[in-house]
Amino acid sequence: MIISGSVKEVREATWNWKKRGFSVGLVPTMGYLHPGHISLIERARKENDMVVVSIFINPIQFGPNEDLDKYPRDMAHDRQVCEKAGAELIFAPEPSEMYPSENFAFVDIKELGNGLCGARRPGHFRGVCTVVSKLFNIVLPDRAYFGEKDAQQLAIIRRMVRDLNFGTEIVSCPIVREADGLAMSSRNLYLSSEERKAALALSRSLGAARELMRKGEKNAVKIKEAIAAGISAEPLARIDYAEIVDSADLSPVEKIERPVLAAVAVYFGKTRLIDNFTFGGEAK
Ligand code: AMP
Repeated sequence: MIISGSVKEVREATWNWKKRGFSVGLVPTMGYLHPGHISLIERARKENDMVVVSIFINPIQFGPNEDLDKYPRDMAHDRQVCEKAGAELIFAPEPSEMYPSENFAFVDIKELGNGLCGARRPGHFRGVCTVVSKLFNIVLPDRAYFGEKDAQQLAIIRRMVRDLNFGTEIVSCPIVREADGLAMSSRNLYLSSEERKAALALSRSLGAARELMRKGEKNAVKIKEAIAAGISAEPLARIDYAEIVDSADLSPVEKIERPVLAAVAVYFGKTRLIDNFTFGGEAK
């Protein structure tokens, strides 16, 4: 397995593969890899000749008061994980390699980036779209793999690829959860043991909401209230948002009659966790 922090080296390696007719799958990550990431790498392994995992904590997608400095890192562990999952290359650049001088060009995504997480994290999705575009230009992947855990990110990347004619197919992968239902996340390690228990309110209340939809409840306000009540029953939980939106364009939904995304973001202490489910089929 090649490990490189150099844009030039990675571009050459992937270009050589492509010239030889090999397909390339890219799994973009910020590292500290867990089974959620591994599911993406394994899927990429099945569907491509060559697999690239990028590990880059992208500074331009973090706000001034967010956890950029303390975001967990463990390159030795990540390297083992990628090797075991069968990746050919890890691209792990320093920020100075990705942003050697101030960036003047950005990729932005209008309304899609303004609701849900984007409303609380101004500039976040501009940072995500810009770095993903850069990764696509460096690696030229045939396919790129994203988790449904970050549902807004997935909808935005799909739209960006469509609007800007990127030649990369976006493949989405289901949320991987702990045995008790908590969605896996690198940020779970910030939780105290009490917060860890309280965090189960996310998957529990979303599960109950899905059941309501399955039984035929169409009123999105009622379902949102049920989700919020389920989460608020946990004294340690502070809701950032609990929303039901159109799963493709993320616009607010009042009546559930097309594919919807139910998404929540909740603070436990300083740690902000997200979770979601889609109902009524995946929107392309
Ligand atoms: P991150 O390192 O948090 O930026 O995540 C990198 C990729 O892994 C993103 O596409 C995430 O959506 C995906 N991912 C993170 N956690 C999970 C999970 N629990 N299940 C599935 N995919 C995940």
